[in-house]
Amino acid sequence: MKAILAVHGGAGKWAVDEKTYRDVKKVLEEALVEGFRVYRTGSSLDMITIAIEVLENSGIFNAGIGSTVDVSGSISMDAGLMYRNRAGAVVYAKYPKNPVKLARIVLEKTDHIIIAGDAADNLARKMGLEPHPGPLPRTLELYRNFMEKLRRGEKIESTFKKSLEMWLNIGDTVGAVAIDKDSVLAAGASTGGVFLKMPGRVGDSPIPGAGFYANECGAAVATGIGEYILLTHATLKIVEELCNNTLPGKAIEKILNVITSRFGSNTAGFIALDKLGRVAGLYNTRAMPWGYISEDGAVKILGI
Ligand code: ASP
Repeated sequence: MKAILAVHGGAGKWAVDEKTYRDVKKVLEEALVEGFRVYRTGSSLDMITIAIEVLENSGIFNAGIGSTVDVSGSISMDAGLMYRNRAGAVVYAKYPKNPVKLARIVLEKTDHIIIAGDAADNLARKMGLEPHPGPLPRTLELYRNFMEKLRRGEKIESTFKKSLEMWLNIGDTVGAVAIDKDSVLAAGASTGGVFLKMPGRVGDSPIPGAGFYANECGAAVATGIGEYILLTHATLKIVEELCNNTLPGKAIEKILNVITSRFGSNTAGFIALDKLGRVAGLYNTRAMPWGYISEDGAVKILGI
């Protein structure tokens, strides 16, 4: 089997000026090249963990360093990974700089699938993971502007929507899928959640079958409004389609049509990879930067 790695930087509005385009493309390429470096000796789990770590560290996307804040101005992050019938995830983690590393610890070193909140943070400390430095200045500025509008008595509903749009223009959740030389598939996601979420809110990204799913037929990851992705078990549905030999593009299209008809457009995007190495990315938002790399070394960036 030829190894393949695919990543995405989130479905959203993405104001694609020249600089954003260059920055996003550069980081996606770096994540693909770094993750794929290990394809001869490493597993698909290694590839996606490394790629997601690069995306988390970039500060460009809503994950790791670039994570958004909730309505109280705090960061809380979700991440999950799936590989060889095992999954590991962390929800509502505030301590680690790289939630994907903590998700991998849960997958490999515990008997559980999801570890939450303070306990997740304690585990991260115990395992010697690097601490998160706190929200980026750009994120705090966005938050302060929002709060200022609230103080001026602007209607929460309309302000919330505008702020959400503002956020969606800047950056989004990250995810990766891969197949390795032994034909084993893996999927993973990492996010700061949605801007101005309620404290305690957990989205789709750390939930197997919602934000990510992988088995022997294929792998899929999601991005968008987590509540809708949770309600539709979207990545499980996509991978089930792959088990019926549906092409990845068609499998995504099916669930995306359901999500669009139930919840409207500008709500979700997915990448999917099947056991034959066929890969697709589709979204009902304006953009979803994504790309892939395979053994011929060519890197393709699409969706932006
Ligand atoms: N799906 C993520 C969440 O709802 C957000 C995103 O993809 O941007 O937490």
